[in-house]
Amino acid sequence: MLLVNREKTIFRYKMFNMDRFVIGIDVGGTKTAYGLLNDEGVLLRSASHASDGEASPETFFDCIAANVEKLAGDVPKESITGVGLGMPSFILYDEGYIVKTSNLVKIRNFPALKYLSEKLSLPVILDNDARAAGLAEHRHGAGRGFDKMLYCPVSTGISSALIIQGKPFRGSYGWAGETGHMIATPGEGVECGCGNRGCFMSWCSGSMIVKHIKQWITAGEKTIMAEMAGGIEKIDSIILEAAYDRGDPLAEKALKQMTHWLGIWFYNLYVSFNVNCFILGGGLVNMGEKLFGPLRRIFDEYNHDEKPVYFKTAECSQHGGVLGAAELIFTESRENLNDVW
Ligand SMILES: [Zn+2]
Repeated sequence: MLLVNREKTIFRYKMFNMDRFVIGIDVGGTKTAYGLLNDEGVLLRSASHASDGEASPETFFDCIAANVEKLAGDVPKESITGVGLGMPSFILYDEGYIVKTSNLVKIRNFPALKYLSEKLSLPVILDNDARAAGLAEHRHGAGRGFDKMLYCPVSTGISSALIIQGKPFRGSYGWAGETGHMIATPGEGVECGCGNRGCFMSWCSGSMIVKHIKQWITAGEKTIMAEMAGGIEKIDSIILEAAYDRGDPLAEKALKQMTHWLGIWFYNLYVSFNVNCFILGGGLVNMGEKLFGPLRRIFDEYNHDEKPVYFKTAECSQHGGVLGAAELIFTESRENLNDVW
């Protein structure tokens, strides 16, 4: 069993009302991170370990429960308001049931909320990780002051978390915001994990653009990317950016395709929700103006109104997942509601 392998005080202990605590957990495909926060939202302790990609659901959540106990340490259980858990999964929110998890293939068809809350004897809120990260941006990051915003991870995949009137919107079952799988070109293009060809993600996410690059190389197009990476299989978005900086035509073509479809995706989101604050997170955002500049131009090409629309970079990247998972509990506590958003 994996155990907490890092524990440290992030902020100085503050003498707020210290008799209530919240635990936030961010499960990623490669790393699981934990945080203990006081009721002012101050992160007091954090820990992380590698996510076990081969674990059964029971083993996976037994490990999480053991690490929560260790992180809580001397904090009495009755002082913990609840545990917020963000997972990269399709989740039936009402039931706290994980339908499937793209990067942790065995974590599927599992009543995770029931299992973990019984194991810990604590209230648990289970939600999608992008939605949790969106909440963190709304409360602590680039979304402060916007009561309507969309947090959009642009990374291995693309998706969006909707915050409306300061609250997360989950939809009927729990996967509102999976807009990366909206269909752009029906039946045409690379097949995506969603089971369709031609969704937006299939044209412009980090992993999909690499798939396109490999297809172009196989079809005979010239590039320095394979040589730079040490083989076609090793090409990734970091190599793509480095090759682009060196003027590689295929890297330019790939980035043009990505920003084209991202710009159209954002325009479609804007006309769907009329939300004027887009906060972009995820690894590809590190490309900065190379990404933001062209996608903004495409967006402006289709958008004919003069109202301000903001494209911002996420600010909570380091502990965003954990802070957001804790915000699931804070939001529920503040509203004192058990209804579905
Ligand atoms: Zn898809």
